[in-house]
Amino acid sequence: MSRVLVVEDESAIAELISINLRHAGYDVTIASDADQAQIEIDGVLPDLVVLDWMLPGQSGLVLAKRWRGQVRTRELPIIMLTARAEEGDMISGLDAGADDYLTKPFSTNELLARIRAVLRRKAPEALDTLVDVAGLKLDPSTRRVARDDREVRIGPTEFRLLHFFMTHPERVHSRGQLLDRVWGDHVFIEERTVDVHVKRLREALEPVGCSRMIETVRGAGYRFTQQVQTLSN
Ligand code: CA
Repeated sequence: MSRVLVVEDESAIAELISINLRHAGYDVTIASDADQAQIEIDGVLPDLVVLDWMLPGQSGLVLAKRWRGQVRTRELPIIMLTARAEEGDMISGLDAGADDYLTKPFSTNELLARIRAVLRRKAPEALDTLVDVAGLKLDPSTRRVARDDREVRIGPTEFRLLHFFMTHPERVHSRGQLLDRVWGDHVFIEERTVDVHVKRLREALEPVGCSRMIETVRGAGYRFTQQVQTLSN
């Protein structure tokens, strides 16, 4: 389930957004100001943030800029909300690092469409689109993994880990990044937890000859690659 953080001080709007997002299957957390939003982000990294521009204290614009400047939150998908429709504002919002921009009032359907578009671009593991890498198929809607019609038996955490790997192939991910993106938590879960689940994932992929697609990159982390000769057993 995709996690969305809604940062909005007007409680009626925050509630309306969160009810609609929950109805659409998102896991929603609300923060009413910048400090609270930062506390949420420091704890669990969401898949996407809906960020209101006008907040008491620090503005959404300042918050977006700060997140863009930090390694952990640099790639965080952000949709900015504003009550102002001036073109200059839109440009400032996008300059600050927002991935998209919505002017109030907006329809729920419009917000949902924008969220899906931003996730498709920046966090495809948060969507339920079928993924196929070198014949290994993962279907989030049925939670099934198979290769050549041979089903892979896989636990829920290994499934999420594989989903993230398959939607971000050929890149090295540190254990901390994997904790953030797969578990949502880089502070309270030990890094060796990642190693345990990678080991289980490799074991699950062994019968279909795909275990070597997950490479250990010494001193850096893990990489999912299709640049290996998969075994044809
Ligand atoms: Ca506001």
